[in-house]
Amino acid sequence: MRKFLIAGNWKMHTTAIEAEALLKALPEQLQDAPNVDVAVFPPSVYLDLTKRILGGSKIFWGGQNIASEPKGAFTGEISSIMLLDFDSTMVILGHSERRHVFGESDELIRKKIDLALDGGLIPIICVGETLEQREAGNTETVVLGQLQAALTGLNTDFVNKVVLAYEPVWAIGTGKTATPEQAQDVHRSIRNWIEKHFDKHMADSMRIVYGGSVKPANAKGLLSKPDIDGALVGGASLKINDFSEIIKAAKAS
Ligand code: PEP
Repeated sequence: MRKFLIAGNWKMHTTAIEAEALLKALPEQLQDAPNVDVAVFPPSVYLDLTKRILGGSKIFWGGQNIASEPKGAFTGEISSIMLLDFDSTMVILGHSERRHVFGESDELIRKKIDLALDGGLIPIICVGETLEQREAGNTETVVLGQLQAALTGLNTDFVNKVVLAYEPVWAIGTGKTATPEQAQDVHRSIRNWIEKHFDKHMADSMRIVYGGSVKPANAKGLLSKPDIDGALVGGASLKINDFSEIIKAAKAS
């Protein structure tokens, strides 16, 4: 039985004061939720604050990105080891903003995945097509190609640890959500791909979360689909009431 994961990606939105208020309100949301894991991804400069507030709670936290090298002269970068220093357990990798705004390639993302796993971090690996790619009928080719680059050749102990996030680029921060059926179709293809390239047990246990304008109003429909195991939430994770409603939708699914 897969446990839902509801993960909040705060991007570069919060001030320290806002981050503190959000963090303090979070543990309350997890009462009686044995079927849900919750994770938050604040800007890295607030990881110390996060550790101090969430330490000892059931909530997970991590970074929104890491460097592709473990250490060295890389001004402005943050290493996997630094995330671990603040008890992070997860890291978001391959987010569409990293791919499309910062030009990260499949190869670079794979280096980061290897580093994260080597250090003991769980990567949430994001894959997803642009609107142009969807309209050209290439959704599956793009998503499975990104998956192949991310996972091929990884040892199975590592593959068992990853979480996958299907995030259609056209739905991120736009208010346009994939319909539950559109999302389910892609999640099913991803699970089939895992079964074909690894095995059925791994496919059945792999958590595949959906991201792209998840809000309280659409969470229930998405989370009711058999292959959707949670949500990677951007905008709505910054409003404690909305994030809490999404967690509630998972609890009830
Ligand atoms: C995201 O940041 O991964 C995301 C899905 O953002 P939003 O929920 O705002 O679309």
